Amino acid sequence: MTPFLLLLSSPSGGGKTTVAKALVAAREDLEFSVSATTRAAREGEVDGVDYYFLSRAEFLERREKGEFLEWAEYGEALYGTLNEEVDRVISHGKHLILDVEVQGARQVRARREDVVSVFILPPSAETLLKRLVGRDDSMHPDRLRQRLVRAVEELEEAPEYDYIVVNEDRTQVVSEVAAIIDSESKRTNRNANLQEDLARLRQDVAAIAGEAAAL
Ligand code: 5GP
Repeated sequence: MTPFLLLLSSPSGGGKTTVAKALVAAREDLEFSVSATTRAAREGEVDGVDYYFLSRAEFLERREKGEFLEWAEYGEALYGTLNEEVDRVISHGKHLILDVEVQGARQVRARREDVVSVFILPPSAETLLKRLVGRDDSMHPDRLRQRLVRAVEELEEAPEYDYIVVNEDRTQVVSEVAAIIDSESKRTNRNANLQEDLARLRQDVAAIAGEAAAL
C-alpha cells in the first residue's frame, strides 16, 4: 500500500473532526495528523493528541524555518501541519488524515501529489447552525456570526475537492469516506508492488499452463 494524504475539509460545524476521529478509530490503515495551533486548549484536549499547542512566537519561528507543509490563520489563531508530522505517519506506512480549513488544503494540493481531498457539506444551512450551536451553546453571537460568514467563504472552495459528501448523519458520512479511502487505495498507480505481484502471478499461471499441456 502506498500511503496518501486524505484532506478533509468542511465549514466549522460540518463534522470533519468527528468523521476523522471515527475513521481513525475504525481503521488500521489511517492515522490522524496532529496539527499545531496557537489557540488555547479546550476542555479535554490533550497536547500532542488533539493539537500541538504552541506559543505564537514558537509557531512563527518554526514557520520561518520552513517547518510547515501548510498553515493558515483562523479566527485569532494560527494553525498548521508540520512536515515532521507528515513524515512520522507516512513512515508507519499509513494514510494520513488532515483536518484542515480550505486555505491550508489549497497549499497541500499545490505542494504534494499524493493527496485525496474530500469536502463535507452540511445537508442544509439550518443543520449547520444547529450543529454549531449544539457544540457550544455559550458561543458569543459575534463569534457565531464570524463562523457562519467564514462558512459561506469555505463553501465556495468545495468544487476544488476530489470528492463531495453530504453529512446527513455520522454513520452514513463515515462509511462514504471509508469507501473513498478503499477505492483510492486500490488505484493502480498507488500499488507499489504491482509489477512484482503481476510477474509472480504470470509465472505461476504459465507454470500451470505448462503442466496442463503435459497432461
Ligand atoms: P478548531 O479551533 O475548531 O479546532 O479548528 C478551527 C479550524 O482550523 C477548523 O476548520 C480546522 O479544520 C482548522 N484546522 C485545524 N488544524 C489545521 C491545520 O493544521 N491547518 C489548517 N490550515 N487548518 C487547520
